[in-house]
Amino acid sequence: MSRYRIPILVWCILLLNVPALGLSATYEVQRGDSLWEIARRFRTSVARIKKINGLKSPRIYPGQQLQVGEKIREFLLPNGPYYHTRPARDLQDTRDYAEGSSGTPARDFARARGLLASHRSELEVRFARIKGRKKPLRGWRIVIDPGHGGRDPGAIVSNRDGRDRGVHVVEDEYVYDIALRVFERLLLYGASVDLTVISPNHLRRDNTPASSTFVNEQNEVYNDPAMSRSSKNGSRPGSDNINRRVRISNAFFGGRSKTLFVSLHADNSPGRPKGPLVIYQKKGRRVDRASKKLAESLRRALDSPTVPAQMGGRNLAVLRGNRARAEVLVEIRNVAFVGDAWALRFHETREEDADRVVKGILDYVGE
Ligand SMILES: [Zn+2]
Repeated sequence: MSRYRIPILVWCILLLNVPALGLSATYEVQRGDSLWEIARRFRTSVARIKKINGLKSPRIYPGQQLQVGEKIREFLLPNGPYYHTRPARDLQDTRDYAEGSSGTPARDFARARGLLASHRSELEVRFARIKGRKKPLRGWRIVIDPGHGGRDPGAIVSNRDGRDRGVHVVEDEYVYDIALRVFERLLLYGASVDLTVISPNHLRRDNTPASSTFVNEQNEVYNDPAMSRSSKNGSRPGSDNINRRVRISNAFFGGRSKTLFVSLHADNSPGRPKGPLVIYQKKGRRVDRASKKLAESLRRALDSPTVPAQMGGRNLAVLRGNRARAEVLVEIRNVAFVGDAWALRFHETREEDADRVVKGILDYVGE
């Protein structure tokens, strides 16, 4: 039966070889290289390369050996189907297609919590076996907020699949997948991590067959028993109760100081450039320096073409009243652009997006 698939898959994960982590990489400068290009290639910053090599100026010469920091190795978990129950369709072929839940929010909450808890403990067992594992995020509490879910699908844009059939890309399903990949990496690096919204049905997924798209499942719940106690679907996440995400986060932070909040989105913003955008906002009338710094780290790691956007203090409810040391919203892709919506559909690019978000967090904490 399908519900026995998860433990079997997790067992397979445990048998895999684990790559060495935290190896420092060296690069030999070639004729025509610039520090900026090298930083880009190794997903780091000019400032960081200068710092670890003790460079006073950006001048480099061919043959020079540069430390380029710790390269995040590929994260070798296989992409599961990981379903409790498969969605009824493999293709979001119309904008309005959605699948509800056969359970109540209370039942979905119990199942989602169980699914995430077993995944977390399996990962912890697996990570504990990694020799020489580094935990640069030990002592940090981090909340990853999958920006939509439940009754709120976020952006839905049309796209073509490999057979030129019309498909639709639903923001909340893809962002949830990236959030889980970020969650796993942060655990690996020793952070305490939680999610604001959880799914009763699946962990992260691949796109097999390649023609499939994730369909809009409306069964996600808030990661809080009190908020998911109701038997009514109205208690599922919606666009009208964003402040609940803030309450979940603040409860998880519990007044501690080493805390971060990252809300993940892939909105449809035709007025903005292609690619990622990081957003932070003022604390009242003042610039929030910690959030600005986190936003800048993430911008470099994501290779965003746009400087982080600073919002006024009352703009985004999910950042307002959030008691994290630094809190930001990341538009990981802009699905107004066909290429960005297309990229979201592949687990390889979502894997890379997750790597980059975690790189930005590691750089912020390390500086
Ligand atoms: Zn969004």
